[in-house]
Amino acid sequence: MEKKQLESLKKHSDQLAQFIIRLSNFYEGASADVDKELGVLRGHLAGNQNITLATVSIGKLNNLLMENAKSIKKQTSDTLDRLESAVKKLQRTADVPDDLRGEAARFLSSLSMHSGSVFSSLPQFERALILYQEALDNSRTVAKSSIPSTPATKSVQALEKPLDERLHANISAELQQLIEPYFQKNQQDKQLGEVRKKLLDGLTQHELLECCLILIRLIVKDAVREAGVNSKVIDSLHKSIIDINQDIGSTIETTQAQYEQKESHNKLLQSQLDDIGDVVKQSEDLDHLKSQAQAHLEKMQSTITNRQETEKEEEQALINLLQNMQRQLTSMEKKTQQYRKKLLEQRLQTHSDPLTKIPNRIAYNERIEQEFERWKRSNTSLCMGVVDIDHFKSINDKYGHAAGDKTLQVIAKQLRSNLRKTDFLARWGGEEFVVLFPDSTLSDLKAPLENLRAKLESLPFKFKQQPVTITASFGVSQFSDKDTIETVFERADKHLYTAKNNGRNQIVSD
Ligand code: GH3
Ligand code: MG
Ligand code: MG
Repeated sequence: MEKKQLESLKKHSDQLAQFIIRLSNFYEGASADVDKELGVLRGHLAGNQNITLATVSIGKLNNLLMENAKSIKKQTSDTLDRLESAVKKLQRTADVPDDLRGEAARFLSSLSMHSGSVFSSLPQFERALILYQEALDNSRTVAKSSIPSTPATKSVQALEKPLDERLHANISAELQQLIEPYFQKNQQDKQLGEVRKKLLDGLTQHELLECCLILIRLIVKDAVREAGVNSKVIDSLHKSIIDINQDIGSTIETTQAQYEQKESHNKLLQSQLDDIGDVVKQSEDLDHLKSQAQAHLEKMQSTITNRQETEKEEEQALINLLQNMQRQLTSMEKKTQQYRKKLLEQRLQTHSDPLTKIPNRIAYNERIEQEFERWKRSNTSLCMGVVDIDHFKSINDKYGHAAGDKTLQVIAKQLRSNLRKTDFLARWGGEEFVVLFPDSTLSDLKAPLENLRAKLESLPFKFKQQPVTITASFGVSQFSDKDTIETVFERADKHLYTAKNNGRNQIVSD
């Protein structure tokens, strides 16, 4: 072979080796086996080339790549499916503008014609990424321009975005309170039991909304039934009033008739008296006078007897009427009493917590308003405390909800019996209580609260034959000049949070 030919062959084989090395770099990452073999091939082709060994390596790679081709194709098609569903999701998102939605539709139709090769799918990914980027930019500008939002947009946003954690907890607590009376009344109701359990165990936003719906249906049903009962009572009271009104009407009519009758009787008597006068004036002899007077007196006697009889009848009729009215009034009074009792029961029911039998949050809201007004008017002190049982969830988790319920009852009782009569205790929700201490300063409360904390700690709970110690943390705050109900509550709540962070089973105050 001539030198020139040899040189050209060497040059071509170098070029080929470079090409293969570059291509092998490009394919790196397809699979561990291929990577390994590519490394070997590059070794044979770099520096002092060993074409024979390189050929063996290429043969092995050929087999490996054939095996891999199938799975790569499958992976590519799976990835493209995922890409398709991601873009469809984007298309359905509420605040995506129409032009972007159109762009997404065009993208989806082009995707359906895709060949399925790895390289040709790359531009598709790029297009999808751009779509997402644009949607993201758009949603940012929408969010900025939509402050403040209207109630309608707010509710739409609330449905689409996850609820703020605190709001979620608040709604759960409110629902727990709402469900309690219905649960106590209908303990057999399976659905109600399940909803309550979910509320106690914690639930997702979707489940929370479902619970809201179930409860709303329940409350509406109950309200309709309650309204039915109330309207029956009101109807019967109304009927009694109509009856009494009619009786009074006829009494007035009778009295009027009686008055007219008496008038005519009086007129009759007067004319009879006048007749006697005339007889006396005109009479000349005594015997004639006597007989005339006798006749007139008899007439008068019969008039008076008549009058007495009618008066008696009238009196009897009046007595009957009055007795009738009396009976109706008595029955009406009875009904009113029943109604008042029912209203009181209802008030008690809406104002007390059915599990612990202490006032609930509705009662607290009313009472704090009163105490706050009183405190503002007078020169006294007022304090507020929030109490939260420590690690209460673990009682439920370890010993069941029934044990948790019992614990709440015992603790509420213990709290109530260790407070003054004038202190107000309510269940705020869940395992949290709120206490109002009228006429007290923080220093007044120091010793009694410490005593209360220790009393709770020493309660001899026993679950599954094991003694269990339960403690609570307290946050306490005193009302001062610029305070509102909310600022004091927030302060007490913050103190409670500090007490929890500092290791629980303690009291933190201003
Ligand atoms: P921490 O010390 O931080 O307060 O912990 P915790 O476990 O007490 O607090 P968390 O708020 O995590 O849990 C409170 C638990 O109270 C969750 C809920 O299941 C339970 N709970 C609330 N109300 C009731 C109820 O009426 N009955 C029962 N059995 N459990 C309730
Ligand atoms: Mg709590
Ligand atoms: Mg707790």
